[in-house]
Amino acid sequence: MNTKKTVFLLSTFLFLAFACRQTKQESDKNDNNTHEVIILSDFENKSSLEIWDGSISLSNEFPAHGKNGIKLSDADGGSLWIESKKLPKDWSAYELLKFDIYNPSVQLYYAQILIVDELASDEQVALKGQAYDWNKVFLNTGWNHIEFKLQTAMVTEGDRPLALDKIRKFRLSFGAVGHPIYVDNLRLVSGDESNETASEVNPADCRVVIENRHVYPMLAGPVEKIKRSPEIVQLRKQADAAVSKLEKEVALAEMQGYQMLYPRIPLITANIGMGIRSKLVWFQNEDEETKILEYVIASCAAAVKEIEVLLSAGITDIEVPAPENDLKPQTFFVPPLPTVSKLKIEDGFYRNELGEPVYIFSMLQINEGPLMDYFAPFNHRTESYTVGGGSRYDIESSPVYEAFHKYDNTHRIGWDGWCGHLIKDRWAMGGKKEDVVICLESPDIRKAVLEYMKLHQKEWANDPKLLYNIMAYELQYICYCERSQKMFHDWLKSKYSNISALNQIWNTQYKSFAVIEAPATYAGRPVDDINRAAWYDWSNFNTRRFTDYMKWIKTEMRKYDNVTPICAGGTSSMLHSSNSITGIDEEMIINEVDDVILNESHSSPIFSDLLLSLSEKRKVMVDPEMGGGTHGLLLQFLHGKSDISKWWWASAPSSEYLQMNESSLPHSKTISLAAIDEVLKISLDIRRLGNEIAEFTASEPEIAIFYSKTNMLQMPPKMVKAGKTPYVEAVYDIWEGARCLGARVGFVSENQIKKGKLEKFKLLLVPAAKYMIPEVTAAIIKYIKDGGTALVIPESFTFDQYARDHDATPKLGIAITGVTYPAIIGEGEKVQNYDQSFSQKIIYGDSQKKITALNKDIFEGSTVLPIFSSEGIAQSIDPGPHEVLATFEDGKPAIIHGQIGNGNLYYLAVPLKAHDYHLLLSPIVEKIDLKRSVVGIASDGGLVYGAEVRAVERKLDYLVYASNLTSEAIEFNLKGLGVSLGEMTNLRNLKVADTQKIILAPHEEKMFKIAKISFP
Ligand SMILES: [Zn+2]
Repeated sequence: MNTKKTVFLLSTFLFLAFACRQTKQESDKNDNNTHEVIILSDFENKSSLEIWDGSISLSNEFPAHGKNGIKLSDADGGSLWIESKKLPKDWSAYELLKFDIYNPSVQLYYAQILIVDELASDEQVALKGQAYDWNKVFLNTGWNHIEFKLQTAMVTEGDRPLALDKIRKFRLSFGAVGHPIYVDNLRLVSGDESNETASEVNPADCRVVIENRHVYPMLAGPVEKIKRSPEIVQLRKQADAAVSKLEKEVALAEMQGYQMLYPRIPLITANIGMGIRSKLVWFQNEDEETKILEYVIASCAAAVKEIEVLLSAGITDIEVPAPENDLKPQTFFVPPLPTVSKLKIEDGFYRNELGEPVYIFSMLQINEGPLMDYFAPFNHRTESYTVGGGSRYDIESSPVYEAFHKYDNTHRIGWDGWCGHLIKDRWAMGGKKEDVVICLESPDIRKAVLEYMKLHQKEWANDPKLLYNIMAYELQYICYCERSQKMFHDWLKSKYSNISALNQIWNTQYKSFAVIEAPATYAGRPVDDINRAAWYDWSNFNTRRFTDYMKWIKTEMRKYDNVTPICAGGTSSMLHSSNSITGIDEEMIINEVDDVILNESHSSPIFSDLLLSLSEKRKVMVDPEMGGGTHGLLLQFLHGKSDISKWWWASAPSSEYLQMNESSLPHSKTISLAAIDEVLKISLDIRRLGNEIAEFTASEPEIAIFYSKTNMLQMPPKMVKAGKTPYVEAVYDIWEGARCLGARVGFVSENQIKKGKLEKFKLLLVPAAKYMIPEVTAAIIKYIKDGGTALVIPESFTFDQYARDHDATPKLGIAITGVTYPAIIGEGEKVQNYDQSFSQKIIYGDSQKKITALNKDIFEGSTVLPIFSSEGIAQSIDPGPHEVLATFEDGKPAIIHGQIGNGNLYYLAVPLKAHDYHLLLSPIVEKIDLKRSVVGIASDGGLVYGAEVRAVERKLDYLVYASNLTSEAIEFNLKGLGVSLGEMTNLRNLKVADTQKIILAPHEEKMFKIAKISFP
């Protein structure tokens, strides 16, 4: 009673001002059964909004209590939020903060809840996690009744409880969801609530209990009170019957000696749908259940039909071998999963004892159970954390941790950005919150890393289960300690020999190498007034020294294990604006460290194309943790990944990180049972079709995109954290525009160009490579003169690697007379570059948009001349001796073609978008006679776009794959280029197609074998 009184007194004045309060004691029951409620806001009238800020208005659409609630909406599609700093301060006597949210969308959300107390300043909240600030408000479709447990709530940092008697701010943020959200009846509650204050709750609504970092969403219940429609009851019966029938048929076929891996898939998806998913609140409604049951009924019935055909000699459109045929036992026979220890790596593939290519597909975290018929065990790969001597999960028990606290020289110096997994900082997931960011140059760290390796090597050394050992992935490193500075001096000395050579390039007056300070960073990027030449050298040096460190670690690992392939790195940093602060050069790592190429760089196959190209020798490529949903999986193997561990198949839904359930196959509301069916089929198809899939990466690409390390390291400092740069953007766009030409696309690096590799390519694409090493420019010009073809996107060739004005376009016979920048992009570059240069006239404003092709060269004889559009920078060009192939609306040159020596130059005055590159490249690749046998032709007569269609020729047939990259159906015809096409078999369902017309459902992937009509 005392506590209750205090609460009452403390909050009385607040009650008078803002809150409506009810205190009741039910005298007919015992004393414990008391309840206590403060209504913080019931949003019944306009005045109740006065203490709130946000995108809010009063609404009677979805009240949880009373007549009104609050509606959060934004007509411009902006973020939705609601915030108050004027609520009662003392929440300490209450068990729960309760409120109700109506989500009108089928989409699930994870809204941010922020509760700030008076112990923390705003800065401590922002930087030190000193408030309860998590995206823990799970929102199911419809009503959500949130119960936030107050007494166990800690601040985000986890180092103290929330000061419940000093609450100063409360905020809910929903992000830009694109539709209204409704909130009502915010209140503090102890004990059972009476009907007067409680919200209206339907048993089928969602109740969300939040207990510190954990969230428990469930049906409000009681479940017995949820009425199910007769339709659902009927569907459940039908689904049960369909499953039983399929089980029986599968058992029969297995008794007859058939392998039933494919027909068993509908039984697995039925278990997920009717078993696992039926326990999750986001599936516990009639709409979702109907979808599940209908899918189960249809998929089981289809499988039953196939088995019946098999066992009854019925009519079928797939080939069923005769029982006496002992050469081919069964249609769709899937070879068993390979024994890992028997696989050999040869010529870029894992190979079985017959020398055939083998693909590995595993699922995080599946190592046991019936799914092992489909997936390779996940534990065939390991991350040994040998680079830093521990991970954020176990660092406290590592000798590195001891060294870190014992010796000063072990700490990272001069770097305030992300620690790059070496080892952890306050943002890191898992373990105790503490900054442990190490310097790899410290002898004490190196010694401790070796001790860690010695302690842990038993976990990986010579483990026959392992196909590869990752030293650590997603790494980054940069350090400014004394040792780093000294190493940098030595590196500069070996590059420049004498200091005057450096001073000339850097435009500095250093007396000796020893006095040089490495160019500084602040807030995770180079400072604004950085010396661009010095930064280029420093960031180059940083890749060298980090790779050297990894090489050393590998040598040490080899002392324990001389067999298991080792790899490191694998980040997406190679196509990210921040590459210059990461110390990562995958070309160095692949060629100097990796036994197998590590590719952990999201799901776009652009990285597979890049990393394979950077490797001097053909190597196996592995992806230890591939995210990115369930689409385009076959494409990943076709682009060269030999080993994929897919993120993920969780053993149970996560209550701490609820969003992670969205990417877990059995638990995700956005992953349909049909999508899971496809994933399981792919797991079998890649075992059946290893030989065929391998054909698509067996020969080297004839088209290369110029990969410029220089343009990844050299850019205005402000761009480093922008994500993209003009160069990176052009790389993505040109790759996207080139991928649907019916041929492989690769990359060629500066090192490779210096070594003469350009001559292997028929087409070179130069994507806005503004900063050029003169030697590389010379090699590209020579390549064209010798008969190559190059497409150049502006502003390539305009500066040297040190960001000095060095316009090489005149060497291509082109004079750039001016340049128009979009106002915003222009700003950043203006200060850094254009004040010190240029013979060109510079304009900031709208650039030219529409480009019309002329009836010349590649466009000659086109029935319809293509029209391109562009945005971004535009150059004014004097074409000199070259011909103009396309013009802007004002008649000025937009695309130039020049015959240079024996080769061809296509020069663009503006960067284009991906689809326009496709339209431009289509006639170019026809002219250069790319090696293609079969292509996909759309209804407009051009190469199909939006689906990747590629073919390879074998002795007796052509292999073709078609992968729909879009969420729309795509239709096209296959056409032989100078060859006649015979019978076509869909290799995924073994049905014979009598036409070359292909229809792909959204994201569908097909693979065909097409017989040659006459053999040579
Ligand atoms: Zn250091």
